[in-house]
Amino acid sequence: MMELRRFRADLHIHTCLSPCGELTMYPRAVVEKARALGLDIIAVTDHNAAENAAAVGEAAAGTGLTVLPGLELATEEEAHILGLFDPGTDLRPLLAAVYHNLPDVPSKRSFIKDQVIVDAEDGVSGFNPHCLMGATRLTAYQAVGLIHSHGGICVASHIDRGAFSIISQLGFIPPDLALDAVEVSPLLTFDEARAAFGALTPLPLLRFSDAHRPEEIGRATMEFLLAEPRLEEIRKALEGRDGREVRPS
Ligand SMILES: [Zn+2]
Ligand SMILES: [Zn+2]
Repeated sequence: MMELRRFRADLHIHTCLSPCGELTMYPRAVVEKARALGLDIIAVTDHNAAENAAAVGEAAAGTGLTVLPGLELATEEEAHILGLFDPGTDLRPLLAAVYHNLPDVPSKRSFIKDQVIVDAEDGVSGFNPHCLMGATRLTAYQAVGLIHSHGGICVASHIDRGAFSIISQLGFIPPDLALDAVEVSPLLTFDEARAAFGALTPLPLLRFSDAHRPEEIGRATMEFLLAEPRLEEIRKALEGRDGREVRPS
């Protein structure tokens, strides 16, 4: 049997690719901050896009930090849902489906310059031309289906927030929506979150930073008990299988 280890994780981090992410959120800056905090696993979850995730993973190569590629989808209902994947997952088909369902870029396209695609050495390699700040035309059910069809884990983002959350937009967490977990923002302590939302859903409750600036990285983390930092192990922890666990840290 494989030995289980504790992994401290912040699985909701934006980069300079997100229109609202600070331009200082470059791969090396994200990796340096995560390592300085002693994090073991992070996920790169830009709004409706994922082009920088591989660069952050490359920047972390050899450091012991695991970087999961991901994204934060905005559904038609304007609810945010995180999709988390294993390193190396080819997300191009998923991104093609997302871009196909984004609104057209307004004629005033000055904001596009802020959607910076970078390489592992923090060099600018391009700009994402899509309207990433918009909501997709994907319903919450379609978004969850799309993430699952690419082998991902689905987490409803910041359900305590008054906007852009599944509860603020739908009024409840549909029991037939196949989420794997729900997340609360750092605005609540984990105990406050459990008191407020524990009875609303049987899903595991997570709390991550939703960092848009380097100093926000790691302001909320979870501790996973896993054999290795892989998505399948995280899935087991969310389901409480084979001794894998997740708890606030
Ligand atoms: Zn969000
Ligand atoms: Zn976010």
